[in-house]
Amino acid sequence: MDQKVDIKHYELFIDGRHVAPTTGEYTIDLDPATEEPIAEVAQGGVADVDRAVSVARAALKVWGGLRAAERGRILQRAAALLEQNQEELIEIESLDAGKPLAAVRRQDMAAVIDTLRYYAGWCDKITGQVIPARPDALTYTVREPVGVVAAIVPWNFPLMIGMWKIAPALACGCTVVVKPAELTPLSMLRVAELFLEAGLPAGVLNVVCGKGSVVGEALVRHPGVDKVTFTGSPKVGRTIMQGAAANFKKVTLELGGKSANLIFADANLDRAVRAAASGIFFNAGQVCSAGSRVLVQRPVYDEVVRRLVDRARAIRVGDPRDPSTTMGPVISAGQMKTVLDYIDIGRAEGASLVAGGARIGREGYFVEPTVFADVAHDMRISQEEIFGPVLSVIPFDDEADALRMANGTPYSLAAGVWSADISRVHRVAAALKAGTVWINTYGYTDVRLPWGGSGESGLGREHGDAALENFTQPKAVWLALEA
Ligand code: NAD
Repeated sequence: MDQKVDIKHYELFIDGRHVAPTTGEYTIDLDPATEEPIAEVAQGGVADVDRAVSVARAALKVWGGLRAAERGRILQRAAALLEQNQEELIEIESLDAGKPLAAVRRQDMAAVIDTLRYYAGWCDKITGQVIPARPDALTYTVREPVGVVAAIVPWNFPLMIGMWKIAPALACGCTVVVKPAELTPLSMLRVAELFLEAGLPAGVLNVVCGKGSVVGEALVRHPGVDKVTFTGSPKVGRTIMQGAAANFKKVTLELGGKSANLIFADANLDRAVRAAASGIFFNAGQVCSAGSRVLVQRPVYDEVVRRLVDRARAIRVGDPRDPSTTMGPVISAGQMKTVLDYIDIGRAEGASLVAGGARIGREGYFVEPTVFADVAHDMRISQEEIFGPVLSVIPFDDEADALRMANGTPYSLAAGVWSADISRVHRVAAALKAGTVWINTYGYTDVRLPWGGSGESGLGREHGDAALENFTQPKAVWLALEA
């Protein structure tokens, strides 16, 4: 059979073993670049979630029973194994998510290993405090693991976002049940095997694939789960908060964005335009912090639009395996339809379509890098997250006008500001409603810096020591000192 890859069969991963789902159901996983089947993947059900959660609860004692430094060594070994096997992981991720191989190597995989190493280093540095309260008592705090963590992951960065959750949870002494996105389960299943090989005790990290409405929902409502960490859409985030209320689980939500990139007339336009283009076209725009709105001061508006159009047209869209490809397909037929529908909406709203606007070819979910000019702030394409390679370019008059529009959506994940005026960039950074502000750059993330937003962009922060708060809780201890 003339197929690039054999169809592989994947089971769930529970208690250190591959197990068939109790549902008996499997789905076919497609390559978004060719629409060809690449794998057959087990679909878990409620009974599988029950099993994974009870295994993870039992494993809390085992994992928490190890010395902190030993836990750190196991996570370091896992990082080394991931690194040794990175070419395989890069290929799996590229194939499953339609991402250019080069981008997965440079960005996703590098961040995965860096994240794991960073949190491995935290294992033996999570401390409490001695807090003097009374002369007749020794009063101190310890930070305890929250317990069993459900990590619910989206399809745009399956491994990287998965690791943002798994690594700090494990470092804090928690055990984990991961629910990968339906469309991209493969890399996490392989990573769970590598963790086991590195010496992670069975049951500490489990992977239950399946539908969000079945496996995700069961995890969120499960009384044996103590914490849900979720990245995905605001709609599902809301459902998760409601479900988690049943037994007052801790919840962290990383949701959507409609991030603005503000280009003032005195900016270095070469750099600003290059970053603005990659800010929207990287990962085919399927990035929560995509700079999907570029706000440009009127004196340079026409020039910036012209240069953005040139950049959009120069992007090489195609086979993710081809090293010259800079943009792959979007993830699915459904996502492609959503993106194309938004392009129709933009046209109907009266924005000027100046680049792209159509599907490419008839096989694979490829959409042209698309730029709309003359976008008004209240148009749907300027207000709603498209999650595809579609840029809205909006003119502004002055700083106040730019800030009004930049802050004028329900999102607050990230924003960028471009200007040579040092006072202005600090003033604007302070006034922007965003969890991350990039000044004269765009798009960087690093596990050492907090990441997240508020409103429709989520609740809480991941990364850095902020994530340690997500997976631990303090206990106050009083010891009487009287003789
Ligand atoms: P989604 O919300 O549809 O799905 C995310 C995950 O939730 C999947 O694993 C899905 O199976 C699961 N899920 C679905 N319904 C569920 C339910 N009722 N209960 C529990 N789990 C359920 O999102 P998506 O389409 O996979 O990803 C795209 C969205 O993710 C975008 O809105 C994007 O902005 C957001 N995102 C945010 C960040 C961030 O860091 N803030 C990063 C990446 C993606």
